[in-house]
Amino acid sequence: MNTIYMDNNATTRVAPEVLEAMLPFLTDRYGNPSSAYTFGGEVARDIRDAREKAALILGASPEEIIFTSCGSESDNTAIRSALTTGRDKMHIVTSRVEHPAVKVLCNELKKQGYRITEIPVDREGRLDMDRYRESLTPDTAIVSLMWANNETGVIFPVEEAARMAKDLGIIFHTDAVQAVGKIPIDLSKSAIDMLSLSGHKLHAPKGIGILYVRKGTKFAPLLIGGHQEGGRRGGTENTASIVALGKACELASTRMEDENTRVRALRDRLETELLSRVPNSRINGGGAQRLPNTTNISFESVEGESILLLMDEFHICASSGSACTSGSLQPSHVLRAMGVPFTMAHGSVRFSLSVYNTEEDVDFVIDKIPAIIQRLRDLSPFWKQGGQVCAPGT
Ligand code: PLP
Repeated sequence: MNTIYMDNNATTRVAPEVLEAMLPFLTDRYGNPSSAYTFGGEVARDIRDAREKAALILGASPEEIIFTSCGSESDNTAIRSALTTGRDKMHIVTSRVEHPAVKVLCNELKKQGYRITEIPVDREGRLDMDRYRESLTPDTAIVSLMWANNETGVIFPVEEAARMAKDLGIIFHTDAVQAVGKIPIDLSKSAIDMLSLSGHKLHAPKGIGILYVRKGTKFAPLLIGGHQEGGRRGGTENTASIVALGKACELASTRMEDENTRVRALRDRLETELLSRVPNSRINGGGAQRLPNTTNISFESVEGESILLLMDEFHICASSGSACTSGSLQPSHVLRAMGVPFTMAHGSVRFSLSVYNTEEDVDFVIDKIPAIIQRLRDLSPFWKQGGQVCAPGT
């Protein structure tokens, strides 16, 4: 049986073109890019090339790109850098729905005496911009807001938020791990100071990321050591993965249109069909501006984890909550922040598509899910008690 992979916000397959580009750096081209001889110098040139490709998809210049090991490292570096360079500023502004790479770090910083403001979201997952505006103070060292939410795909107006921060001289960081390659980004026209990107969400391998740092932004490295990345991130370069990420960025630019037309249409059909075939189901964040590939659907009075187990029998891969939080039976912090009722939040499944998904994949999922939900509802005490009041298909 084929695997129907609809968990691309958790990770993506390495594109064959990307694999082909990186393989020589795992076999013959193993020189250290810092070495003086040609065998190393050639690799340095390939890294330069990858940096240019990565800069292009962001509308940045190559010197503004720092290669890191992952999105989490980029997030940690950005926030810690701003706190170091901000000296005695003790306030951080973020949102209630950030990825743990930001959220857990902020929880730790709170224990160390920093003041954290988490901006709330409404029922559709939209950021409360009034509360955001009010939260900015002369003591704010950094704002860190995600561009697009990994669980719901809801897009935050980060450009507007960055301009507000800039007016007050506050560093603005965005976790764009889910946004890059799915929606156009042009940092040359933006007030964003720092941006995080992760290779494995973009058909590059795991273990490579980028932190963009705008020219002129004060910066303090997280990893101190060698002179690599212009002294902004010590450690011998992960050459194969850097080259892979460059290629993945190039590919993503050429596929952005497919992502926003064909993939969006697949996602929309999946949603419409599931909502019409499964009563008491709803789209979380459906009323907000969203990524084209993501849908988060709640099926009332069933357990998301149980849905995943039954889907697994058909080799359908998706998530309940985010990949990083599944395994815990608590509804996700994102759905709780949106005020999704308990019996709905528990039964949520995130499908995240990619350019590799087909009409047949969607047909298969539409065919299997209604019976899976019915099977679970037949066993559910909540459902037998009448469940929560909710109009079919809302
Ligand atoms: N930020 C967001 C929004 C994510 O979705 C993820 C991964 O799920 C990360 C950060 C962490 O990225 P990485 O897995 O590369 O550390």
